[in-house]
Amino acid sequence: MKVLLTGGAGFIGSNLTRSMLDRGDNVVCLDNFNTYYDPAIKRENIADYFPNTNYTLVNGDIRDFDLLTKVFDDGDFDIVVHLAARAGVRPSLVDPMLYQDVNLKGTVNLLEQAKQHKISKFVFASSSSVYGKNEKVPFSEDDFVDHPVSPYAATKRAGEILAYTYHHLYDMSISCLRFFTVYGPRQRPDMAIHKFTDLIYHKKPIQMFGDGSSQRDYTFVSDIVHGIIQSMDRCSGYNIYNLGESNTISLKELISLIEDSIDTKAIIEPKPFQPGDVPITYADVTKARKELDYNPQVNIEEGIKRFAVWYLNRKQNKV
Ligand code: NAD
Repeated sequence: MKVLLTGGAGFIGSNLTRSMLDRGDNVVCLDNFNTYYDPAIKRENIADYFPNTNYTLVNGDIRDFDLLTKVFDDGDFDIVVHLAARAGVRPSLVDPMLYQDVNLKGTVNLLEQAKQHKISKFVFASSSSVYGKNEKVPFSEDDFVDHPVSPYAATKRAGEILAYTYHHLYDMSISCLRFFTVYGPRQRPDMAIHKFTDLIYHKKPIQMFGDGSSQRDYTFVSDIVHGIIQSMDRCSGYNIYNLGESNTISLKELISLIEDSIDTKAIIEPKPFQPGDVPITYADVTKARKELDYNPQVNIEEGIKRFAVWYLNRKQNKV
């Protein structure tokens, strides 16, 4: 199938691209290589794909409606997989205007282009952050999600709602995927597992927000990629799916796994809990298991080991 993949040079997008190319999809990656983190990393993520004749890169911004018109006019896509966004909770408190500009305007632009070009299938990357301070665990898709606690989370919830409107008005099939903290090779350097591994490796202090008891459901990137592919193939009607591992680990336990994986002790600097952070994320994946045959395979112990192997290899190859 011919896919427009936004944000395809990023962490999840570049891992997804490998699986799509392997199964014969034609992938047009649209990415603006912004400086949220070093764009050289994003170029490195996709470097292997250029020899594949089924791969095309468009360097551009999802806020640029004229550019999108050209991409869609030339594209003849079967499906849009929309991953491009400003990600990250804490930076969204610093620059909420940028988050709404990219995550809302960009998403409406893509939905509108898909409608105008009669592309009836659309997959949208949402986030577990929409659950805010939900106390009922595990989180299921029909839980209350209208009190997000960060601008980032609010843009993701708004994206799901906009997607519903396009489904309702124009009969588009749209799947909104709520990813639960994704990790693995190429993870964004600002995310906890990557950041902690790097600091511990360099024997620098890590900041631990709260008392270390906050719980996260971490999902290995190959499981997320499988969930995205399944949702592309079974995109029908309007659906929201949790994609998580459906297991939790405390921050303290996570740090200890990272220490073991690189055989180095962490220097921990305790800090107060941050505004916008949530105490727990925990996915109920019953719906994805049933309708997508989603079946997460990599638990956190195994996933952290695999991440450490990737991290250490990359370090050695750069020296
Ligand atoms: P990432 O930052 O590595 O990838 C996003 C990509 O989008 C980047 O390559 C970036 O350059 C591109 N992009 C950003 N703004 C753009 C714009 N205006 N025009 C074109 N391209 C643009 O992030 P990721 O971790 O791979 O996340 C991918 C998606 O999944 C995002 O929508 C994110 O919100 C969502 N998500 C991620 C996680 C996670 O744990 N990584 C969890 C929940 C949801």
